[in-house]
Amino acid sequence: MPFRFLIVGAGFSGSVLARELVDHLDCFVEIREERNHIAGNCHTYVDEETGITVHHYGPHIFNTDKKEIWDYFNRYSELRHYVHRVKAWHDGKVYSLPINISTLNQFFENTFTPESAREFLNTLGDHSILHAGNFEEQAIRLLGEKLYKAFFYGYTKKQWGCEPRLLPASILKRLPIRFDYNDNYHNNPYTGIPVNGYTDFVSNLLNHRRIKVILNKKFQNNSDELSSSYDHIFYTGSIDSFFNYEHGRLSYRTLRFEKEIHEGDFQGCPQINYCDENIPFTRITEHKYFTPWKKFNKTVIFKEYSSEAENGNNLFYPKRLKADKDLLSVYREKAGQLKNISFLGRLGTYRYLDMQHVIEESMGFAKLFVECLKTDSPVPVFPNRE
Ligand SMILES: Cc1cc2nc3c(=O)[nH]c(=O)nc-3n(C[C@H](O)[C@H](O)[C@H](O)COP(=O)(O)OP(=O)(O)OC[C@H]3O[C@@H](n4cnc5c(N)ncnc54)[C@H](O)[C@@H]3O)c2cc1C
Repeated sequence: MPFRFLIVGAGFSGSVLARELVDHLDCFVEIREERNHIAGNCHTYVDEETGITVHHYGPHIFNTDKKEIWDYFNRYSELRHYVHRVKAWHDGKVYSLPINISTLNQFFENTFTPESAREFLNTLGDHSILHAGNFEEQAIRLLGEKLYKAFFYGYTKKQWGCEPRLLPASILKRLPIRFDYNDNYHNNPYTGIPVNGYTDFVSNLLNHRRIKVILNKKFQNNSDELSSSYDHIFYTGSIDSFFNYEHGRLSYRTLRFEKEIHEGDFQGCPQINYCDENIPFTRITEHKYFTPWKKFNKTVIFKEYSSEAENGNNLFYPKRLKADKDLLSVYREKAGQLKNISFLGRLGTYRYLDMQHVIEESMGFAKLFVECLKTDSPVPVFPNRE
């Protein structure tokens, strides 16, 4: 008898998992998705008026340091190399990001070499801060007040909706400056955009006779669902929603997108971050720049406004404050008492994960799951430890 599995969520986590399971086990997989489309937050579509491929939930650039993940994606949909370049708007001027020698030259009206830039930065950092207790202290310790205020303070405050001194120092782990002119936004060697969009990748993954996708159907954690005849349920929705928020909600930030269509070109690059507090949006993205190999007469842009996610929809950035981590532990413990259910993905594990990470984690978890069945060992509830 083939196994029967239910996967909740047709994002990258659920879809990679589904494909790996049917490819390696005698099983049928049903995927339940509450939205009216597959691909989760990576969903793309072609805008009717302009013909431009739009990243519906904000710009997604595929980037990885692992060739096998790059190759995996390409097996299902072609990725074309693409270098993401981002600018920063501050006080009416546009600078290069990530902060590099070009940014420093323009900001301090100087002409630095890599060495003189390092020396100069050393004079800016506040060395009296020995142990940074929060994001603001960490930034001032590494960069000094001026660069922090210009490029980080306003943007971070808008993005996270609180004073940066209330955020953990760990957000700014490394020195966010390059001592050369490299303005490639990503550090990973493999960066690209799928030629036919991300939804095409997911659609090809799910195109299998033993995978059935049901859209517009929310999974509700109730006894009917749980007692139905699935051998295992994989839940990639938010873990607090699975428990009907019984102990409270985990906090997330969400985004609101304001769309505009213009003739020709709008800003001359894919993304400008607006670093100043007095401008209400955080960034403007111009999506035709994500497919530089195509030409368009019109352009479509999105202004992004960040806010607290309040109704359980469009949960984008897990805040992971101390109270969230405590609550997560409570839910993880409850999840550990359930049978035949695992929690995966960004929402199921309450972590910010890039696409490369969810692909790798779902592939790894499917492999582990198959091994557990073969050796009659208990299946882990989570792919990670907290
Ligand atoms: C604004 C933004 C920009 C990003 N940019 C990048 C980038 O440039 N590069 C990168 O690598 N990553 C980026 N990411 C991260 C990327 O979106 C995630 O890695 C990826 O979407 C995670 O996939 P997932 O399947 O875990 O979660 P999701 O994509 O959130 O999928 C979960 C799915 O489950 C469904 N679901 C939830 N609960 C239920 C339920 N009860 N019943 C039925 N269905 C349910 C949801 O509707 C959703 O479709 C970005 C994320 C955001 C928010």
